[in-house]
Amino acid sequence: MERYWNEEIETMSREDMKKLQDERLVAQVKHVYENVEYYRNLMDEKGVKPEDIKSTDDLYKLPFLSKTDLRDAYPYGLLAKPLSECVRIQSTSGTTGRRVVAFYTQHDIDLWEDCCARAITAVGGTDEDVCQVCYGYGLFTGGPGLNGGSHKVGCLTLPMSSGNTERQIQFMRDLGSTILCCTPSYAAYIGETLHDMGYTTDDIKLKAGIFGAEPWTEEMRRSIEKSLGIKAYDIYGLTETSGPGVSFECSEQTGMHINEDHFIPEIINPDTEEVLPDGEVGELVFTSITKEAFPLLRYRTRDLCVLSRKKCSCGRTLIKMSKPMGRSDDMLIIRGVNVFPSQIETVLIEQGYSPNYLIEVDRVNNTDTLDISVEMNPEQLSDDVKDKEKELAVAIRTMLGISPKVHLVAPKSITRSEGKAVRVIDRRKLHD
Ligand code: ADP
Ligand code: ZN
Repeated sequence: MERYWNEEIETMSREDMKKLQDERLVAQVKHVYENVEYYRNLMDEKGVKPEDIKSTDDLYKLPFLSKTDLRDAYPYGLLAKPLSECVRIQSTSGTTGRRVVAFYTQHDIDLWEDCCARAITAVGGTDEDVCQVCYGYGLFTGGPGLNGGSHKVGCLTLPMSSGNTERQIQFMRDLGSTILCCTPSYAAYIGETLHDMGYTTDDIKLKAGIFGAEPWTEEMRRSIEKSLGIKAYDIYGLTETSGPGVSFECSEQTGMHINEDHFIPEIINPDTEEVLPDGEVGELVFTSITKEAFPLLRYRTRDLCVLSRKKCSCGRTLIKMSKPMGRSDDMLIIRGVNVFPSQIETVLIEQGYSPNYLIEVDRVNNTDTLDISVEMNPEQLSDDVKDKEKELAVAIRTMLGISPKVHLVAPKSITRSEGKAVRVIDRRKLHD
């Protein structure tokens, strides 16, 4: 039986949701225009007035915001409430450059935690559960967001933060944790450590995991589900829109429902900024319609995915987004071919390797080189390493259309991640 945190909203008819979004958008545009000089200037430049936005049908008239705007306006330039009403800042992990700070009123924190409570409920979480949160705490949104959601649901919350993996497992066993929240790469590491410590899935009570903050493949999902004996669910979000919980996966595990009562999604062509219809791959853009302190309108996330309104078996009517296949700026162009690290991960796991790998790109004599180091499992150690490397290189070439150099390396020789994994080193940038 599917359970909802907010049944009315999560199963609302399309017409009612649109009405709610229309009202909220009109009020939000007015709030931003009146209080954020930076965005008012952008609207003025485009010749748009708040009165021109009468419903979500007029969304396309508004200017976009990008990470560059956030950096230009750093730190207070996009603040829409007096500082006296703000109670918190969080900051991006800085994966792709200078950090960005976001501000929250108490109302903003409440709605963010509410979104995380929906995600926890969607994986079966109730006040009977013990929820172990091993996302980082602090400026990073992962820990605080899921922590707040877990409290709302009434789970016994273990605010572990990341790191000290053996202690994570000890607490998991001693306290009988049933839900695990962390990055997928850390979940894989926890699973590996559990088995290294001589335990099996029978020694723990975990039933579900809520994993996000970085891209991960379906193959990775299956591998984590097996090693921890759980169902693994995706969760998505970004600091600029609040944090995790912008969208979350349900029992169907085929994409994440977007909390449309707070965030209006659009998909655009990243080059032309043209809005694309549902079903087409493009860059995800969000408009926050309820946030007070840091309400971004038409924010370009740089994440690439597809939106779908296909009926979901869980009963939720909230639109779904596919797993982001990566950020537009994660995409590597190697010898003219577009390559996403996730494509390589898919092949590796399909071929029976662990999700521990490192992609290195360089340019030698004006030609791009692609080197992929992949860890062998202990049982894969053998004399025919060269043949195995060739086999894997062929499989990857079939997927990507270009040939990599594959290096099979010793078990446990690639550094594990406790947060967001670093899987790519692009040395070409150093030469530029
Ligand atoms: P940073 O941009 O510095 O990493 P954040 O910590 O706010 O800052 O991370 C947000 C980004 O993390 C998103 O824009 C997206 O690229 C990535 N992300 C978050 N959740 C997921 C997910 N479930 N799948 C893929 N990528 C994700
Ligand atoms: Zn669903």
